[in-house]
Amino acid sequence: MPIVSLTNVSKAYPSRTPGDGEVIAVDDVTLSIEKGDVFGIIGYSGAGKSTLVRLINALEPATSGTILVDGVDITALRESELRKVRGGIGMIFQQFNLFSSRNVRANIAYPLTLAGWKKPDIDARVTELLSFVGLSDKAKAYPEQLSGGQKQRVGIARALATGPAILLADEATSALDPQTTHEVLDLLKRVNEEQGITIVVITHEMDVIQTIATKVAVMERGRVIEQGDVFDVFSAP
Ligand code: ADP
Ligand code: ADP
Repeated sequence: MPIVSLTNVSKAYPSRTPGDGEVIAVDDVTLSIEKGDVFGIIGYSGAGKSTLVRLINALEPATSGTILVDGVDITALRESELRKVRGGIGMIFQQFNLFSSRNVRANIAYPLTLAGWKKPDIDARVTELLSFVGLSDKAKAYPEQLSGGQKQRVGIARALATGPAILLADEATSALDPQTTHEVLDLLKRVNEEQGITIVVITHEMDVIQTIATKVAVMERGRVIEQGDVFDVFSAP
């Protein structure tokens, strides 16, 4: 059974230009992501990738279509139930989204505090996560004292804290240089291989897909124009 499956999903927004009707940001998308995949979604800016992620993460309602996450139709859920679905999905971002006024340990602890974990459990979990991402010596540092790659490793630790089944990476390496990009992608590969977490990588960079993804969907103007094994989709005819 796929861990995420979309059937004929569309999302329309009112246009940002008044009187200009609506924008179909996601247009009749059908795709399925299997448990354990590293699934890439590639397309130019404006193709609809971020909207697709917001639909999967239940941050926006779809206009039409069905979205199953772990077998549950999230288009039919109430807000309280959606919160539980979101808890099973970790996210990392291009601009890292760390709290600048909190140190690394507190940033990683944040979702655990929200989830109501007890202090000793939080401390033990954060120590384990710091070690996993190789930042044990930076626990007390503040984000501004870290390199871009270190900040994203904090982002990954925070996203993994509550033990999600899915990690969504939205342009997570787009602010990083090529060397650092590869370090972060190596870490994501370990997350996938050692923890069995399904990873969805949204990017406009082909190199990222070819480095890490096994499956890919190509988006253009809201539509998925091609999907399948990375090797098949990108091999020369
Ligand atoms: P991508 O992530 O591939 O750059 P997006 O999903 O951000 O693409 O955007 C897809 C299209 O939807 C674009 O034309 C964008 O301008 C439009 N769009 C995205 N969010 C909104 C919104 N909240 N209101 C109106 N239009 C939006
Ligand atoms: P808001 O609901 O106002 O967006 P929150 O206080 O929920 O903000 O979160 C603050 C920031 O931390 C956000 O940018 C959010 O993306 C990020 N964040 C919260 N929880 C997680 C999590 N489990 N994994 C990754 N980032 C998270």
